[in-house]
Amino acid sequence: MNDKIFTADLILAGGIVVNSRARFRADVAIKDGLILAIGAPDAMPRAREIIDVASKYILPGAIDVHVHFREPGYTHKEDWRTGSAAAAMGGTTTIFEMPNTDPPTRSVKELREKQAAASKAHVDYGIYGLLAEDNIGELEGLITGGVNAFKCFMGNTFGNLPSPSTGAMLEGFEVIAPSGLRISLHAETASIMAWRQERLMAAGRNDPLAHIAARPAIVAAEAVARAAELAGWTGARVHVLHISSAIELRPLTEAKARGVDITGETCPCYLLLDTRDYARLGSIIRVNPPVREHSDSLAIWEALQTGVVDMIATDHAPHTPEEKQQDIIWRADCGFPGVETQMPLMLNEVAKGRISLEHYVKISSENPAQSFGLWPMKGRIEIGAHADIAVVDMERTEVIRAATLHSVRARITPFEGVSVTGIPIHTLVRGRFVQRDRSLIEATSGWGRQVTNIQRMPQAKPRNTDQTLAAALQGPFEALAGTAA
Ligand SMILES: [Zn+2]
Repeated sequence: MNDKIFTADLILAGGIVVNSRARFRADVAIKDGLILAIGAPDAMPRAREIIDVASKYILPGAIDVHVHFREPGYTHKEDWRTGSAAAAMGGTTTIFEMPNTDPPTRSVKELREKQAAASKAHVDYGIYGLLAEDNIGELEGLITGGVNAFKCFMGNTFGNLPSPSTGAMLEGFEVIAPSGLRISLHAETASIMAWRQERLMAAGRNDPLAHIAARPAIVAAEAVARAAELAGWTGARVHVLHISSAIELRPLTEAKARGVDITGETCPCYLLLDTRDYARLGSIIRVNPPVREHSDSLAIWEALQTGVVDMIATDHAPHTPEEKQQDIIWRADCGFPGVETQMPLMLNEVAKGRISLEHYVKISSENPAQSFGLWPMKGRIEIGAHADIAVVDMERTEVIRAATLHSVRARITPFEGVSVTGIPIHTLVRGRFVQRDRSLIEATSGWGRQVTNIQRMPQAKPRNTDQTLAAALQGPFEALAGTAA
């Protein structure tokens, strides 16, 4: 076969390709949005454009399964254009966007509104549907209507969507399990938090650390354990969002060991900040779940290395600076932008030797692609895959400044002034530059498109012979029906 008959659109020349197992020097040729060839310069086809990326690293773009772009409903904080611009600047080529917008993504009607808003995106995206108490009847429609995953708020956060009862959660898991779509869990137990926050407010606690007191780590451990049982019972695939504590790693580890399809993510703030930062940052650090003790950070770092925590996400949660800076902690909105700073912050840890570049590729791209049904088209630099690429300069240093974030209405970050080494200098989505030489390509607004779940087969049949609620509502379990008369 003569490769020379092909004409590539683009060749990235002289870089170092990285996957989870190895790094190697190779040119990468791209055609029609896909990776056409990987190899030595003299094996490359002719290309319309050749970019010199000598001594730079070629990573699969980050896949961030946890962002809030706030549109529709809260566009004074962020919208799909600004949020996806921030992703492009941060080397992130695919995001999954959460349903706590206004209106929430709770039925096909709102899914279509979300898709319309998303049509401005610079990067590819998945869309979450909501699993709540009052939309169990809408779940089938959301599945056939094209959501990429579900989100269940076991604890309250921005938007104040009521948490479903455990009964409603179980039925929701039963309905979603056969689709194979993953259910991401805000795993904090609402009743514990509501009780404690009321008691703390009555006692006059308004300081930043009161936020931790209202949401001690037991709320996460209890919720993860309960959700893992429901997942094992129903065969639903689940994902634990924003792991913040050492103790929730125990039910996560145990569930994995008994074969539950459960994955977990953490975010840079839980790895890089701890209780010692509260006095300095005040209400800016308020996030759900809270940033906890240094010992929690150390445990999560270890779990990232061993694979108990599968991936890094950001919980990109933009609010205006005014909404964040409050003297009374309960009035400060929770969360902060993250999608633009994740890769530089984590590459800075690579530069410091805390994790390898190969392992970073695994937790930022390979594992999310595999867990959320995007593999093998995304999450890897391989022939035939989408050319979703972050070109990284591991020598380059920048200082994180809120004033330059592309989340232009949410320019506030707990990482203000942090110097980071390791910067994504180009970002390509399906072969097209959306960021080039540290500048956003404005014209790529609208280039992003919704992902399709490739591995949408059910992960498992329910591991029990009991009826689902939907089946039970039709009549007695068939094996028992003969004796029922
Ligand atoms: Zn979130």
